Amino acid sequence: MSEQFDLVVIGAGPGGYVAAIKAAQLGLKVACIDKRPVAGGTCLNVGCIPSKALLTSSHKYWEAREHFENHGITADVKIDIKKMQLRKENVVTELTKGIGFLFKKYGVTFINGTASIKSPNQVQVQEGQLLETKNILIATGSISSSLPNIEIDEKQVVSSTGALEFDKAPKHLVVIGGGVIGLELGSVWARLGSAVTVVEYLDKIVPSMDSEVTTAFQKALASQGMAFRLGRKVVNIVKQPKELALHVIPAQADPTEVPEIITCDKVLVAVGRRPYTQGLGLESIGVQLDNRGFITVDSHYQTTVPNIYAIGDVIPGPMLAHKAEEEGVAVAEFLAGQAGHVNYHTIPSVIYTQPEVASVGITEDQAKEQGLKYRVGKFPFMANSRAKAVGDTAGFVKVIADAQTDKVLGVHIIGEHAGDMIAEAVLAMEYCASSEDIARTCHAHPTHAEALKEAAMAAFAKPIHM
Ligand code: FAD
Ligand code: NAD
Repeated sequence: MSEQFDLVVIGAGPGGYVAAIKAAQLGLKVACIDKRPVAGGTCLNVGCIPSKALLTSSHKYWEAREHFENHGITADVKIDIKKMQLRKENVVTELTKGIGFLFKKYGVTFINGTASIKSPNQVQVQEGQLLETKNILIATGSISSSLPNIEIDEKQVVSSTGALEFDKAPKHLVVIGGGVIGLELGSVWARLGSAVTVVEYLDKIVPSMDSEVTTAFQKALASQGMAFRLGRKVVNIVKQPKELALHVIPAQADPTEVPEIITCDKVLVAVGRRPYTQGLGLESIGVQLDNRGFITVDSHYQTTVPNIYAIGDVIPGPMLAHKAEEEGVAVAEFLAGQAGHVNYHTIPSVIYTQPEVASVGITEDQAKEQGLKYRVGKFPFMANSRAKAVGDTAGFVKVIADAQTDKVLGVHIIGEHAGDMIAEAVLAMEYCASSEDIARTCHAHPTHAEALKEAAMAAFAKPIHM
């Protein structure tokens, strides 16, 4: 007799593993299957965590080389990239092991194998292993997108996975795509000594970001040595004996246009990610996909087949680990008969470069497009005493509030600790706070967070320290 479950989760990334743990905590009998031998998905194995480990190591090296002297410290700084990579791998191993431990603690059965759905109540793992279940949750995530005419070999022309594995800094790394991955991993290798050129199709980097932030962000990255070719596309990569020759033309140009040739030794293709549903057998059981390949779900994450649910990168919405996690908790709550909810207006996004960039809610560009009446409060880190003491005064906080109600509509931060500071803005927006609410909340001194308080003051009255 095959084993019976209340819930079988396919994919042990941040969506799947969190859903599995939460469902088990709520009393369901749960199995979680992943084709990787360890849990954690893209995020822990080849995404968020290894990239942040390398961003931190490369930042320390950069700090030692560029900034220690300002603080009166002289050091003979050397770099061992193999050791840096080993540290990164250890961080990943410890965290993925940690999820294995949590699975054991809460009684989630982890199965290593490739799953396919045989019926709304049956999941096949490998030959002969058929799981019977009341519900199925698809959390199979996403994979890197590629470009026509460009073959990713993960050696010279790499995806993010290959760019996390280099054993030495490329001489010249060309990044195709000025989005989050391109700028984070471009930063890592630029700090470690590579010349980095970013080729972006649109006329600005990270197009979804507030334009004022984008301008400051590009300037900051350029001052660290990154070069930008905006409004351009790569139409071909010619492999030559010792280097790669990229054929680059204006984004709107005819492909027959005489190209600009950029030579380099490595190319990172970072032009987005696409949902991954291959081999699940969705067509045969009637689970519908939209025209971009995402699984269609209703407000309870149910697919077009009852008892089959989907969350995370494989459904529409921002491809972020914390978004997948929130959905995982909500679906587990629905299945346990509770009320689950995800507020998509308050999902923050963070770019872990130097300076960091973080945002929640609408941008000023969107406020304009929507014809909203709004006020903007801004405060530069240059006037923040902690930023001054630390020696990192780049950037600012920008608060957008409704002109009539003062309700906070969006917060955008560029600067040191932006990724941590945004949590306060998210909480404020979650509770429909006004800019005055933030401004009248006592913030410890001296902290970077005081810049958010001052920006909020600037939105409803006047900042004190400007
Ligand atoms: P995934 O994490 O992709 O997990 C899906 C899992 O399903 C995989 O382990 C896969 O092996 C498994 N699977 C697929 N098909 C099957 C099958 N048929 N049978 C069994 N198993 C299967 N997001 C952030 O919020 N912050 C960051 O800092 C961040 N950094 C990133 C850096 C990089 C380089 C990349 C690539 C991504 C980053 N992301 C980040 C995005 C984040 O990784 C994803 O949004 C997140 O992992 C999505 O979670 P998920 O559970 O939906 O899917
Ligand atoms: P992205 O969507 O952030 O950026 C892709 C960029 O490539 C865009 O700016 C786009 O205009 C550009 N582009 C598309 N086609 C192009 C072409 N032919 N030539 C030149 N440029 C082109 O995608 P990404 O950076 O690959 O990241 C994928 C996903 O992973 C994102 O959705 C992101 O949310 C997630 N991620 C998040 C983090 C984080 O939260 N810190 C870090 C890494 C990845």
